Order: sequence, then structure tokens, then C-alpha cells
Amino acid sequence: MRIDLHSHSSVSDGTQPPADVVARAAAAGLDVLALTDHDTTAGLAEAAAHLPPGLTLVPGMELSCAADGSGVHLLAYLFDPDHPELAAELRRIREDRVLRAEAMVHRLRAAGVDVTWERVCAIAEAAPDPDGARGSAASVIGRPHVARAIVEAGAAADVQDAFDTWIGSGGPAFVARYALDPVRAVGLVRAAGGVCVLAHPARSEGTLTGAVPEELAARMAAAGLGGIEADHPSHDADEAERWRAAADRLGLVVTGSSDDHGALTGHRLGCRTTDPDAYARLVAPATGAAPITSG
Ligand code: AMP
Ligand code: MN
Ligand code: MN
Ligand code: MN
Repeated sequence: MRIDLHSHSSVSDGTQPPADVVARAAAAGLDVLALTDHDTTAGLAEAAAHLPPGLTLVPGMELSCAADGSGVHLLAYLFDPDHPELAAELRRIREDRVLRAEAMVHRLRAAGVDVTWERVCAIAEAAPDPDGARGSAASVIGRPHVARAIVEAGAAADVQDAFDTWIGSGGPAFVARYALDPVRAVGLVRAAGGVCVLAHPARSEGTLTGAVPEELAARMAAAGLGGIEADHPSHDADEAERWRAAADRLGLVVTGSSDDHGALTGHRLGCRTTDPDAYARLVAPATGAAPITSG
């Protein structure tokens, strides 16, 4: 069993529609894929409608959290998307993402970068599904869309350069956005019947060390966190080992996943995977939704 529990589509900041993501997952030899777009489940219906035979789709999402001004990402699985408090928080995050992206465009224009709000929106809404099955799944806007507009405007060589020069944390056009306290977020996902995993803990944007403090991971564990994504393509071997050990200390499952964003990054579906026993242990307490199989 090959299991990848972290992927993005063009419904957030990936570059391919959900139908293409599940097709690529099957082509990569995966048996289980979680679609985890940022702060939305809007891509799941299309992914489920195009699910190749033999592939199991785990409904998921990557929830934007922040602690002490630094980004902490929480992967949530198998929760009830209609849970009122969780749904309200997701709406608030998505609405603030729009305001914040507009504010970044203003800052860029004031700095002489010729990006327009119309162009950023067009990039965010791009890549419609050829079958038209994507329906009204509105894209969740994120900095990668702004970064691509900066590159188009000639003010950065590539997306990475756009983050480094303009919109990375602390950059001249960076604007923060609303995000959840990670301990509260774990409680919300659990209340909605879901389970959650601390995403890429060695890559917390904005901290001096670049990592989530283990003390915070411990408080998240006490609130019902199920696992830690120790095996992430951005982690080096020492970081992966360090977070495997932390998961052991905290009694949490270790997951591995690709965090595939299509053409935005080089991290391909299946480049990291989760052990089947770890997956079974992780999802056992979930009651908010079920994995989806085709046919
Ligand atoms: P946002 O959620 O709008 O704050 O944007 C964060 C997203 O930008 C992450 O999920 C990554 O996909 C991407 N990202 C973050 N930092 C970088 C970076 N330094 N270079 C390229 N992409 C990045
Ligand atoms: Mn992303
Ligand atoms: Mn992330
Ligand atoms: Mn991600």
C-alpha cells in the first residue's frame, strides 16, 4: 500500500485541477491519496467524481494556523465540513486571504511592481477542469498566485525569488493574515469528528529557528493531535529523524507525504509515503467523514 496524505490542487495553490491530481496519483502507483487544499474542501467533489479505480481518496484540508506570529500548518482529515464553528472559521480565513492579497498588490504597486488585482485573480482561478466538472469551486487565493503575477511583471526571476524579494515573511510587500491558534484548531477538527497531523514541523515560516517548538507540539498532542509529518520533502534527514523521535515521545503517529503542488514545486506525488499501520492508527478515531473509493 502506497499512501500519500498531503497534496494540493488549483482549488488552492496547486497548479492542476483536482481531476488531474487524482489521475496523477493513480499513475504514480498510489493506493491512497489525501487532497489537502489550503483552508477548503471545495476540490473534493471533483476529485471524487474523477477517482480512478483502485485509488482511495481521503477528504482533507491544510488548515492555516499561527502561533506567536509564525505559521503552523495543520493537516485535517475526515472531519465534517459542515461543522458550524469550523465552517465559520474557514470562511473567515478565506475572506481574509482575499483582503490580504489585495493589500499585498497595493504594496507591490506602491513599490513600482506592475501587478494588478485582476491578473492575480485570473492566476488563482486558472486551470479549469476540461469536463467542466469543477463547477463553482472558487479558488482559495494565496501568496503563490501573487508570486506568479510578480514573475509575470518581471520583478522576480521565479516564484522562489518573488518570496525571497517581496512577499516572504517580513518581506517589503508581505502582509499577515488571519489564522487559527493551532491548539484550538486541533480541538475544532476533533469536535468535527476529524483527525489531524502537524504538517512539515521543521518549516514554520517566521520563527527564528524555522521549526515548530516541541512544547507547542506537546500542547497540540494534549488537545488530540494524531500525528506528525516527519517525512516531508523539505525536511533533511536530521530534521526527519528529530521529528520522528518527537512523535515517539508524544505518542503520535509519523506520516510521510509529498505536499505536491503541481508545477509550483518539484515535490511529486508519492515522493514520501505513510506506513499503512500508521495510517490505520491515525484514521481510526475519525467519525466526521469516510474515505472515498470509486465504483
Ligand atoms: P499563504 O498560505 O498565502 O500564506 O501562502 C503560503 C504558501 O506559499 C505555502 O503553502 C507554499 O505553497 C508557498 N510558499 C511558502 N513559502 C514559499 C517560498 N519561500 N517559496 C515558494 N513558495 C512558498
Ligand atoms: Mn501551498
Ligand atoms: Mn504547508
Ligand atoms: Mn501543503
